[in-house]
Amino acid sequence: MKLVLIGAPAAGKGTQARKLISKYSLAYISTGDMLREEVAKGTELGLKVKSVMASGSLVSDDLIIAIVKERIKADDCKNGFILDGFPRTVVQAEKLDELIGNIDKAIYINCPDSALLERITARETCPKCGASYNKISVPSKVSGVCDVCGEKLTQRKDDTVEAGKARLETFHKQSEPLVAYYKNQGRLFEVDGMIGIDNVTEAIFAELGD
Ligand SMILES: [Zn+2]
Repeated sequence: MKLVLIGAPAAGKGTQARKLISKYSLAYISTGDMLREEVAKGTELGLKVKSVMASGSLVSDDLIIAIVKERIKADDCKNGFILDGFPRTVVQAEKLDELIGNIDKAIYINCPDSALLERITARETCPKCGASYNKISVPSKVSGVCDVCGEKLTQRKDDTVEAGKARLETFHKQSEPLVAYYKNQGRLFEVDGMIGIDNVTEAIFAELGD
């Protein structure tokens, strides 16, 4: 099974991906994570990526495609995979189709911006031990204080209201044509991300079947 997961920041992609992976024995492929790993390991590819990013440019479609092409050859992809963070554009989606043939399904978890912004800005992390919280869903016992080590909790720079709005705007600009692309192919499954985590999972499982 070859899946693409589409959803704004805080739409619950990670949670749903974990459930899909265990039900269908799929590999999870996050191109963002992979790029960060390569940079951290200092591989030839990592150095290339680092210099592209340092120049303020985006990593090219060809480079990303090359990475995905290698990754899906791995053993853990034999039952299929979930792509997260790729394709980001229609051009990338076309290149992916050229590479693997059509995907089975693009799953789009749709949530209104107001709810997403509320979730994003509710995130807090501990600068000392790295524990993460969410004022709405996973609050610390004492407001603003880490349960584990007692340090004052902070917010990531990109989890502020202004940064959150900008991230959502970017997401819409990029994802709307992509959603339309898969819709035209008859491969889009759009699910309402506001019906609760378990109901979202159930809807996706029902769509994909056993
Ligand atoms: Zn802590």
